[in-house]
Amino acid sequence: IFATESRTLLYNNHDADIIKLSSNENPYGPSPKARKAMSEAVNSCNRYPWENTTLLREKISVPYQLAKENVIIGAGSSELLGLASVLAALKKGNIVAPDPTFRLWIPAAKKIGAPVKLVPLTEQKAVDLQRLKEAIDADTRMVYICNPNNPTGTVLAPNELETFIKDLAPSVIILLDEAYTEFEDTKSVAHLVNEYPNLIVAKTFSKIYGMAGARVGYALAHANTIQQLNNLQPWANAGAGGVSLAGAIASLEDTSFVAMCKKENAKARNLFYQALDGNGIPYIPSATSFVYFDTAKYPKDFKAVLEAKNIIGARSFEESSKWLRLSVGTIKEMEQVAAAIRL
Ligand code: PLP
Repeated sequence: IFATESRTLLYNNHDADIIKLSSNENPYGPSPKARKAMSEAVNSCNRYPWENTTLLREKISVPYQLAKENVIIGAGSSELLGLASVLAALKKGNIVAPDPTFRLWIPAAKKIGAPVKLVPLTEQKAVDLQRLKEAIDADTRMVYICNPNNPTGTVLAPNELETFIKDLAPSVIILLDEAYTEFEDTKSVAHLVNEYPNLIVAKTFSKIYGMAGARVGYALAHANTIQQLNNLQPWANAGAGGVSLAGAIASLEDTSFVAMCKKENAKARNLFYQALDGNGIPYIPSATSFVYFDTAKYPKDFKAVLEAKNIIGARSFEESSKWLRLSVGTIKEMEQVAAAIRL
């Protein structure tokens, strides 16, 4: 949290001169319908937002043929990733996760006393299901998988992931982070939650819906599992604020905005691929709004080259490696990236 604060202080979010490609934020959002709904919802801020929490839970459940009892709302999906890892850590055992992956939930689990066993990715930077399986032991209480994986953008084969879930002992929670599925229609496993009460699927309005600052996320799970997560929330059914909930509800209706974001993201990502190709920089094809690439043979300091042009956000996730992740911005922004890195 403090690291994020200091970054924000250094690079003001609203500074027009800075191109911020650091946290996989959507450069287009929130959707026009969400903006309108949020403005109107300001007037009801004197009331608790339970009705809208329930409405959003209902709306979220429909495409998965689930019920609102299968849905919990949080202040971003990171709150729910945190609650799931606390739930697992309270059961006194270890947690297994790939490395590198999205790690925000790890410190809380460790503080409660759950060791986190990190399992390297495959050579192609994909989550290695076989090695994850081998790392699970009698003390494992949770496995975390991010699909598509952040920071590498890789996707697991749906049948392999489903077999992995099926083969897990029911006592082991499987936390599936699906923050980026909408960018390339990565298959969700949320339809399986009633079959596997140990499965928790976390999703968010922060990415394709462009509402990172509004803080709305959700998890889908068996009703009993949702109840266990609810028990850890200070006030169940009030996990996100009324203005944010109104935006999330309106966002779900704005399918043309989502389609536009997908299309523009794919175009901007392609433009970045071309720029990387042009400079001989290998990359992992991504199903998301970020790209992971290897700057080992790039003759200059890649981050410094970008920062000299006020483009911030290239980040490393592996010690002693030159792989970096950069978020995909607008087409114009990625053109500026391309110009900055050109040799
Ligand atoms: N999961 C993944 C994989 C992410 O990359 C992020 C944010 O970058 C999150 C979860 C958290 O998103 P939020 O808490 O904004 O929903």
